Amino acid sequence: MLLTISHRSESPTTHPATDLGFLLHKHPDRVRHVTLPFGQAHVFWPSASAAEASVALLVDVDPVGMVRRHRGRGEAGTLAQYVNDRPYVTSSFASVALGKLFRTAMAASCAERPDLPAHPLALEVHAPVVPCRGGEDVLRRLFEPLGYAVEAAPLPLDPQIPDWGDSRYLDVTLRAEVRVADLLTHLYVLFPVLDDDKHYWVAPDEIDKLLARGADWLASHPERDLIVRRYLRHRGHLTAEAIRRLTEDEEDDPDALAVDHDAEEAVVEKTISLNEQRLQAVAAAVAESGARTVVDLGCGEGRLLGVLLRDARLTRVAGMDVSHRALETAARRLKLEKMGERQRGRIELFQGSLTYRDARLSGFDAATLIEVIEHLDPPRLDALERVVFGAAACRTIVVTTPNREYNVRWPTLPAGTMRHRDHRFEWTRAELRAWADAVATRHDYQVAYAPIGDDDPEVGPPTQMAVFTR
Ligand code: SAH
Repeated sequence: MLLTISHRSESPTTHPATDLGFLLHKHPDRVRHVTLPFGQAHVFWPSASAAEASVALLVDVDPVGMVRRHRGRGEAGTLAQYVNDRPYVTSSFASVALGKLFRTAMAASCAERPDLPAHPLALEVHAPVVPCRGGEDVLRRLFEPLGYAVEAAPLPLDPQIPDWGDSRYLDVTLRAEVRVADLLTHLYVLFPVLDDDKHYWVAPDEIDKLLARGADWLASHPERDLIVRRYLRHRGHLTAEAIRRLTEDEEDDPDALAVDHDAEEAVVEKTISLNEQRLQAVAAAVAESGARTVVDLGCGEGRLLGVLLRDARLTRVAGMDVSHRALETAARRLKLEKMGERQRGRIELFQGSLTYRDARLSGFDAATLIEVIEHLDPPRLDALERVVFGAAACRTIVVTTPNREYNVRWPTLPAGTMRHRDHRFEWTRAELRAWADAVATRHDYQVAYAPIGDDDPEVGPPTQMAVFTR
């Protein structure tokens, strides 16, 4: 898959075209390689002069490797898993690569030349093979309202046999005077929409990603509903939610967005009943802190809440989760309906998001985040930090997260994969420490680390815990 972005400067002496390199954070003299879950991506510059500069993104999708790592598309055992168009076309894989390689550029940030990102540039994008459901008409309806001049040529199914007609692929050129950050977000969102065959599973926070990327332009786009529907792979409830949030400009309450977070992870971790050990370790840390009131953030189905309720010293036990469905399951599992009045008075469940400041979180002695942080996109961790460590600021905060180093010890886990497909990252012990130490310094906490589960001499424990106190 190849995509090029070119810029021709009108005034090369004052505004050289190579400024594009600053904007993209990619030096025109260098080639950059990154490994993605589905293959390799490379960024290089076919040309770079003061008058004209052109940067290319080459994504080498490896369908066989994906099947081996259990991430192949399509039904298991079919030829389509191995032989498909993905290595050649501009699809959501291209979006993932753009998001990974040009994240800073997409955020319109440029430390070296802070004046640059705000200015539109004359840019041209060439994507030679774009799968396009609905053909050129849909392509135009998506890009023209955003100010692009669209050029598209259909690719024949087989040039040798003209009778077969055209394929669903277009050779696409887009031209506009546009800010680089805007161009990248347009491409990031609209390539998968054109393709209408998003390869990966739609997680609830796909909505967050879509709204974050589309913040400035999606709400007023005439094809808003088509974009949202296709981007979220026609999941009705997600689409409805995204459109509601776009139109009401309301941030929280992603109702009915639950997914079965735990099932898959549970299978992988089953062998050592890690979950049980984790609950005990966390409950012990809470007890040791002397807390009387505790809130479990991202409580899921309420397994920790059940353990905490058994500790009579706790007078108030609360659970918060973004998923309404998880909270309903928690209420059922804890048998809230049947609880006696006294017990019922100790427990409360409420819906909320860890990335939005919430007054209900203040006033607890302790907060727990059990296998939650890895479900957030790394940039959202800053928001979580502000909400949990800055605003709520409980005396004790317990965080657990997988230790990626341990993954090699799991016979059921294919090499290089994470324990759960909704995990946005899994940290090594050093990575957790780097994050937690920095958070502790910024918010005036002390932090202690403890292993949970079998502490392997080489790779450490399967779960790592950080206990923050102030
Ligand atoms: N702590 C539970 C659940 C872990 S799964 C346990 O150990 O069993 C992660 C949980 O975090 C899910 O229930 C998910 O709904 C929740 N979650 C993910 N993002 C969230 C957010 N931004 N705010 C609140 N909860 C979130």
